[in-house]
Amino acid sequence: MTKDTRCGWCRRVVDQPTGRGRPRKFCSQRCRQWHWVSQQRARELNLAEGELVVARTELDALHDALYVLACAVDDTVNDLAGGAATKEELKRMLDWLIESAMPLRNYELSAPGTTDD
Ligand SMILES: [Zn+2]
Repeated sequence: MTKDTRCGWCRRVVDQPTGRGRPRKFCSQRCRQWHWVSQQRARELNLAEGELVVARTELDALHDALYVLACAVDDTVNDLAGGAATKEELKRMLDWLIESAMPLRNYELSAPGTTDD
């Protein structure tokens, strides 16, 4: 089994083209661009290797989404600790958990100073 390549920006698994050709390092052109821009910014600001500038609005949105998920996980843990649940109750818990996780499932952190096109 070969090791999956993770996108150099978003860390999702990168689909490799079949046949010959250079292996892809990014899952999308957008990720490639964000990685490049963030490296340029890091160089301009003399940041250490592995340091990154992130827009406050992006970080806030990520933290908000993490907080919503944390609350949903806590609610679900508490609900399950309450004992036997009906199929309908379990479905409701799962729906709430999925609804709370979906923003993170689809989250994309952009590099600062780039416009979403
Ligand atoms: Zn990516």
